[in-house]
Amino acid sequence: MMQDPTRELTTRVHSLANRVYVRVENLKYENANNVSLLTRLTAHLGVIALVLIALLLSGIQIQAQQQPRNYDEPAPQENLPDVNLDPTNPENDLRISVIVNTAPAKKERRDVTQYTVKPGDNVSVIAARFGITPDSLIWANGKLEDNPDALSVGQDLLVPPVNGVLHQVAKGETIQTIAARFKADPAAILNDPFNQSIHDFKSSPPVLVENAFIMVPGGSKPIVIRKVQYSATTPQNAIKGTSNFQWPTAACVSQYYWGGHPGIDLANSKGTAVVASDAGYVEFVGWDNSGYGNMILINHGNGAVTRYAHLSAFAVNAGQSVTKGQLIGRIGSTGRSTGPHLHFELIVNGVHRNPVGIVRGNTPGRCR
Ligand SMILES: [Zn+2]
Repeated sequence: MMQDPTRELTTRVHSLANRVYVRVENLKYENANNVSLLTRLTAHLGVIALVLIALLLSGIQIQAQQQPRNYDEPAPQENLPDVNLDPTNPENDLRISVIVNTAPAKKERRDVTQYTVKPGDNVSVIAARFGITPDSLIWANGKLEDNPDALSVGQDLLVPPVNGVLHQVAKGETIQTIAARFKADPAAILNDPFNQSIHDFKSSPPVLVENAFIMVPGGSKPIVIRKVQYSATTPQNAIKGTSNFQWPTAACVSQYYWGGHPGIDLANSKGTAVVASDAGYVEFVGWDNSGYGNMILINHGNGAVTRYAHLSAFAVNAGQSVTKGQLIGRIGSTGRSTGPHLHFELIVNGVHRNPVGIVRGNTPGRCR
């Protein structure tokens, strides 16, 4: 049973490297268009290559009796050449590393991509994943326009190929009218490869396919922030705020304040305590149908109102006063939400403000 350990190991390593090489070649052929799989695979292969080399360099001293047996291995072939580790020799056995380094760069996304919302997603996170602005994502998905928090797990979104407005061509529209409507350059529309694959730009004038999508690169739409009205009135003797706001929960930031998202999302597990950001009068406690789910509104009596959304539990009633830092509810994922978080808004004299920079104390860090 005793064999020369160096020879056996060398042969096995070489045979493995050979099979890996063949597999890479096959996969390169089969997955010419599947960049993510190939990228992932080549990353694994890089590790395999390093392990093989490390094994070869260090493992030759292993005694034959100690060598692990792999029962899936084919019988070693006798006529394989020796492993050549000379990096200057183009015929060396390090070529799998070379394949790793010359893997094709990530293909440019040219088409509209359909994306299914996963737990924990929000508009900012999805947009960043596809390298576009959050605005471009909400403009491509009409129902998000007045409420970017209106995401639910399993919902399908359209992701435009580039920043701008993804528009559905209506009867009578032309390149010029579309460009004017979204304040964009007609040439950018005509030069877009996605548009060229759908519409007939070779005719003069260009012919647009009605109801089909057209990408308006660099285009924009006005941002509409929804107004949700509540009819509560605050009594004269209600407790007033200090105007020094505190963070309402211990959490990480899963979505910052931006044009279409007039609040900050603070993520933590369901049940985490939510406290009043400042003293005030509880104007609303209950279910909000527009997507906020279980929601609390506190009027601070000085022009400021704070909103706490997606709660799993309430600890106060409408019509009572609260002190700054008092427990008012618990983090949840009610309403349109993809995971437990507190959507927190600060509205001063009717205008949404970014809590970062106004709320005192260390701003929670970004979720990892
Ligand atoms: Zn939010």
